[in-house]
Amino acid sequence: MTGTRTILHVDLDAFFVSCELLRRPELRGRPVVVAGGGESHPGEARSAGRSVVSAASYEARPSGVRSALPLARALRLCPQLVVLPVDIDHYARISKQVFAIFQQYTPLVEPGSLDEAYLDVSGSQLVAGDGPTIAAAIQTRLADELGLPASVGVASCKTVAKVASDLRKPRGLVVVPPGQEGDFLSELALERLPGAGPKTVARLRLLGVTTLGDLALLDDARLRAVLGPQGEQLRDRARGHDPAPVVPPGVPRSLSRERTFARDLTDLTEAQRMVRLLSFAVARRLRAGGLLAGAVSLKARFADFQTTTRQLTLPRPASADLELVAAAQELLRRVWQPGVRLLGVGAEQLVPHGQGQLFEGPAEKGARLDVALDRLRDRFGTGAIARGIGSLGAEEDWNRDHLRQLGPPPAGGGGAPSAL
Ligand SMILES: [Mg+2]
Repeated sequence: MTGTRTILHVDLDAFFVSCELLRRPELRGRPVVVAGGGESHPGEARSAGRSVVSAASYEARPSGVRSALPLARALRLCPQLVVLPVDIDHYARISKQVFAIFQQYTPLVEPGSLDEAYLDVSGSQLVAGDGPTIAAAIQTRLADELGLPASVGVASCKTVAKVASDLRKPRGLVVVPPGQEGDFLSELALERLPGAGPKTVARLRLLGVTTLGDLALLDDARLRAVLGPQGEQLRDRARGHDPAPVVPPGVPRSLSRERTFARDLTDLTEAQRMVRLLSFAVARRLRAGGLLAGAVSLKARFADFQTTTRQLTLPRPASADLELVAAAQELLRRVWQPGVRLLGVGAEQLVPHGQGQLFEGPAEKGARLDVALDRLRDRFGTGAIARGIGSLGAEEDWNRDHLRQLGPPPAGGGGAPSAL
C-alpha cells in the first residue's frame, strides 16, 4: 500500500465519568466529577482535601470545572457538583471491552491510555470501508454496545488525527482529507499541538507565534534558536507532516545484527559484502517476526574505537532484502574509511505489517520472493540459499535486547552457500 495512510485517533469522552454513569444512571444530566489523589474517607466525599478532578461530565464544564482542577476549587465553582471517587479497576475492565472493539477493525492499535488509541486502518478499507466509515462504525458500536460516548479524528498521520479528535468533543467526528492537513491546522492555537508544552508555547509566543500556521512558517534559524534541534520536528507536525507509525504494544522498537572482525577491514568491497550479509540476516528476522522497518541504521566502529551510527528513513516501511541492503550500503558509503573493526545493521521504527501492506504493488515482488526463500532456508539450513553473496555462518550475534520479544530465531544451520 503506497501513499496515504489512514489513521484514527479515538478518544472516549469524559471516560471515568462515563464509566460511573453506566452503574449510576440516575446521575445522568447532572454535573459529576470523578476525583482522586487525596485521602478519601467513606461518607466524606464532600471533604475535598487535596483531591484533584480526574474527569468532569460535560454538564459540569460550563461552570469552569475540568480535569486537573483541585477539587476544592471545583466545588467553589459548582457547589451542586456530584463527586465520585476514582475506581480505576472498574475503568480498566471497561477499557478492555473498548479495545476489543478497536481490534476488530485493525491489529494496528496503539493505546495512549485507558480511553484513547491510535488505529491504523490503511489496510482495513477493503473489508470495513474508508476511514470516516470505520470511525462512525466504532462510535456507534461504543455507544450501542457499551453505552460510551467517544470522539474520533480521521487523518493521514497521528498528530492530525489527535488534534481532530479533540476539536469537537463530545461525540465529535472530524475528518481531515489527505492534502488538507496544513490548512486544517493553520488557524488553531499552538496549545492544540500534541507535544507543544507550556514552555515551548511561551517561547514561541515571544516571537509572535500564536497559531500552528505561524509555527509552520517559522524559518530554520529562528526555530533552532528558540526550540533547539527538536524544533524542526515540531514545525513539521504543525504542517501536518508526521511519519510516526502506529505501534501496537509488544512490538520491539528495533532489531539489529552486528559483527566484530578478527582484523580490521581495510577493503571497501569486503565491508560491502559484510553489510549485505548483515542486512539479509536482519531482513529475514523482520519477516520471521511479521515486521516492517521504517528506517535502516548502520553502526561502524573504527580502529581507534570511535563509533558512528547513521540512519536512513525508507520511502515506505519494508522487509525485502534488497530494500534493506540498498539503504545500508548507502550508509556505508557515507561513513566508510579504511580500518573498520565492527559493522552493524539495524532495522528501526518497526511496525507489524498489517493487512494489505504486503504483496500489493510491484515493489512487493521482492518481498514475496524473499519469503519463499526464507521457507527454503528453514527447510535446508541458513547457508543453503543466498543471493550469490555468501553466508554469515551459523553463529548468532543478535543484539539480544531487541529480540527478546520476538521469540527464538528461526532454525538454521551452516553449509556452503549456493548462488541463485
Ligand atoms: Mg478521553
